[in-house]
Parts: sequence; C-alpha cells; structure tokens
Amino acid sequence: MSENLIEKKFICVSCPLGCGLTVVINDKQEVLSVTGNSCPRGAAYAKTEVKDPRRVFASTVRVKGGRLPVCPIRSKTPAPKNKLKEIAKAVAALNVKAPVKIGQVLIHNVCGTDVDIVASRDLS
Ligand code: SF4
Repeated sequence: MSENLIEKKFICVSCPLGCGLTVVINDKQEVLSVTGNSCPRGAAYAKTEVKDPRRVFASTVRVKGGRLPVCPIRSKTPAPKNKLKEIAKAVAALNVKAPVKIGQVLIHNVCGTDVDIVASRDLS
C-alpha cells in the first residue's frame, strides 16, 4: 500500500528573514522533509507547526484600582493554537486588582494547557 504524501507551505516566523518553507508529510503527519529553510531553526519550526502549532497569546485584562483600567498580558510560553479562543475567553473573564507586577502569573495553567498568563508590565 502506497502512502499519500502531502506538501504544506509555511513562512518561518522564527526570525525576521521569513524563509518560505516547504514541508512534506505522510498520512501519519510525520515530517519527511523540510526545504527552503536557511538554518536549522526553520526545520524545527516546520515540525512544530505540523505536530503542535503554538502561538504567543497577547491581550489585556481589566484591572481594578490601578492608574490604568487595563494591563497588557501575554502567555509566558507559546500556547496551543487550537486553544487560543478558549484562552481569550478565560482572559476576558478575568478581573485583577492593582498593583500588578511585570511577570506576575495571573492565570496558572490556563485552560489546562500548562501555559501561564503573565502581566507584561507593572501597574500600580
Ligand atoms: S529558517 Fe532560519 S533564517 Fe529562515 S526565517 Fe527561520 S530562523 Fe530565520
């Protein structure tokens, strides 16, 4: 039985060069080849993009009692792409009290992803 090979195209976002990547995968979503990358990070990016695509989540949360009504936040590490909507809902439902410290964990293990949501700045 012959396996179906699928070709996928990605733009590597690991650095500003933005190499165009061509990835060949098989039926089992195994990466057979990566071309177009100018360095090994591109191949690693392509493999992650096929198996477990992730993005850094960034938004704001409401803050009570602070100088500003909202504080920018981000995921401490890239979060699974298919969980970003769920994470956005969890963040939208959050109300934190000032003061907030940069790096402070505002949601631990958001939506069961093992990713923490942290403050991106100090807010008193
Ligand atoms: S493959 Fe390497 S050089 Fe090309 S965009 Fe990715 S990190 Fe940058």
